[in-house]
Amino acid sequence: MDLQLQDKVILVSGGAKGIGGAISRGLIEEGAIPVIIDPSDVEGKELVDLAKGKALHLKKRLFSPADAEGVVQEALAKYGRIDGLVNNAGTNDGVGLEKGSPEAFLQSLEKNVGHYYFLAHYALEALKKSKGAILNISSKTAVTGQGNTSGYVAAKGAQLALTREWAVELLPYHIRVNALVPAEVYTPMYATWIQSFPNPEEKLDEISRRVPLQNRMTTAEEIAAMALFLLSQKASHITGQHIFVDGGYTHLDRAL
Ligand code: NAP
Repeated sequence: MDLQLQDKVILVSGGAKGIGGAISRGLIEEGAIPVIIDPSDVEGKELVDLAKGKALHLKKRLFSPADAEGVVQEALAKYGRIDGLVNNAGTNDGVGLEKGSPEAFLQSLEKNVGHYYFLAHYALEALKKSKGAILNISSKTAVTGQGNTSGYVAAKGAQLALTREWAVELLPYHIRVNALVPAEVYTPMYATWIQSFPNPEEKLDEISRRVPLQNRMTTAEEIAAMALFLLSQKASHITGQHIFVDGGYTHLDRAL
């Protein structure tokens, strides 16, 4: 299938490592131009090298509206267009009800959902011109909970709600907005989280065995494959959807 993503300029927040890294790599393989917004030096450079320069790495940890406005302006200054936005950057920062504070909760929301809105806001005029697509990477924790991570989960839930809200608001511009919902994907963030258990390998094995399809984690490449499809014109009549790429983890019976 030709996804017709050649030369499309796609912003990918957190696009150097993990799920975002796989999406950037997939875009490069399709001949698209990822704008990788991510503080990770080494991985960002590797991707630009892989793309033989047909990619832009903006070394930035998004937080404020000015951060988002700045990266959108840099992308437009270099390429003059934006065809897609992948809101992906996030951190499961463990701000719970017991181990947390109101200040930490608000900061977690800003870190995890603030820049989803900021990037969409500042990229909107360019996306209207290109009739582009927005993809929000959420998490199954938005619908299952996880415990001890109120800020992250509230942000992930907000991303699902905003997907529907923006899909409606942007209908007149033919801008499609979808959410992709992963569950268990072995990425640098996941590796850090699993290390927080007393027996990380046992815990990883236990979780993998509970994934209904093939008793294994989803790969970042499997997430990226759906992301590329949703960004492409092959998904031209799909909008406002929450798409679970999780081997059945969220919806199928895990006791079997
Ligand atoms: P990851 O391994 O930590 O990779 C994320 C990348 O984004 C890292 O390079 C990180 O840099 C960067 N980043 C983090 N915050 C940023 C910010 N504010 N601005 C710019 N870059 C930022 O994470 P991942 O597991 O791939 O997760 C990606 C997305 O998938 C997140 O939204 C996460 O909630 C979602 N998700 C993941 C899983 C999973 O199983 N892995 C499950 C459900 C949902 P640093 O490393 O320097 O922070």
